[in-house]
Amino acid sequence: MLSGLPGELVEILEFTRRHNRWRRFETINLIASENLMSPLAESAYMSDMMHRYAEGKPFKRYYQGTRFVDEVESRVQGLMAELLGGGFADVRPISGTTANASVFRVLGACGSKAVIPPVQAGAHVSHTKYGTLGALCIEQVEMPFNMEELNIDVDKAVKLIEDVSPSFVVLGASLYLFPHPVREIAEAAHSVGARLVYDAAHVLGLIVGKRWRNPLDHGADVLTASTHKTFPGPQGGVIVTRDKQLYKKISRAVFPYFVSNHHLHRLPALGVTALEMKYYGEQYADQVVRNAKKLAEALAERGFKVLGEHLGYTKSHQVVLDVRSLGGGAKAAKLLEEANIIVNKNLLPYDPPDAIKDPSGLRLGVQEMTRVGMKEQEMEEIAEFMKKVLIDGEEPAKVAEKVKEFRMNYVEVKYTFPVNTVKDGALLLLY
Ligand SMILES: *Cc1c(COP(=O)(O)O)cnc(C)c1O
Repeated sequence: MLSGLPGELVEILEFTRRHNRWRRFETINLIASENLMSPLAESAYMSDMMHRYAEGKPFKRYYQGTRFVDEVESRVQGLMAELLGGGFADVRPISGTTANASVFRVLGACGSKAVIPPVQAGAHVSHTKYGTLGALCIEQVEMPFNMEELNIDVDKAVKLIEDVSPSFVVLGASLYLFPHPVREIAEAAHSVGARLVYDAAHVLGLIVGKRWRNPLDHGADVLTASTHKTFPGPQGGVIVTRDKQLYKKISRAVFPYFVSNHHLHRLPALGVTALEMKYYGEQYADQVVRNAKKLAEALAERGFKVLGEHLGYTKSHQVVLDVRSLGGGAKAAKLLEEANIIVNKNLLPYDPPDAIKDPSGLRLGVQEMTRVGMKEQEMEEIAEFMKKVLIDGEEPAKVAEKVKEFRMNYVEVKYTFPVNTVKDGALLLLY
């Protein structure tokens, strides 16, 4: 079919096809920041909106031709706010980082200070002087961390906030097993006139599914998030706050400071996902946290060093392993990839920051495998595959074949509406 076409064209299509097959059907994906959209959301994503511009806000655009985009965007704003218990949502940030940039720009002037979680304990690059904070010339002050509790050290953090008197404080992280102490930190921040930003990039789906406390109910002034981690939507960002004045200021920063076109084809897909979460989100989030706990237990039983044993291992979608005795994070992650198990190496809270190339840990997330229907039993099987590769020293290529066979049984996305996108004609590409 592709004969007679330029070789580069055939290659690009072929690599894409191989990627799709491998990552979608042949691998166990445990990257904690990824997920899958349903076929319904994917079909909504593939719309003509991907070609269009709509600068500005719904019904107040700088472009013509946006009447249906306006209808979709305003509904999606309403849904995202509703899922978080009310308030105002801006769905234009094209990533969690863009959402953070917009909020940080409003809350902190150049030269001001922000108190953030420490990097080894999971601060995102956008929280740091190397990333967005640095770009905005806001000074990064790290919160003290309690290694025993694997959480923010509340008493020391409160004292630090009182001493530093920052413009804003950030909670939420990328390596995230246990909920941060929102109420106490919010009180400390407010007592010095600072705002509290809760970065829910990783846990948005768990919050919406009511298996993680909603920070807006506990004193956070504004929530930022990615829409594609535990929240299984298109890649993008969102900002939600219940403070109308703050919302207005932040919206004026999203556009025109950080976004011109906001990649409109995300919006229908985000709307579909928001509705999936409204109707199936609790069931999904419940299974995610059960699966994470089960995977942690199953790995510990098989001899892995799993962080947080005395705390019940995890309350989120993540499981964190210390694999120093197995050759370190870089080697372990590579071996697992050869066995068709995709994970990422990660700094552990006690690693020096410069260990970034070969950190001690692996970070695993079960949300995507939960989305395709895996439950506790399957977590046992995943733990067994990992043991074969990393502890028993079996040939990764051999395990890869077994992983492929196993994964082939879980290809259908669950927790969505019973619509067959092909048969029921929901495919929206109707030119
Ligand atoms: C992933 C992440 C973000 C944003 O990531 P994007 O890739 O820009 O969506 C922000 N904060 C935290 C804590 C994250 O883990």
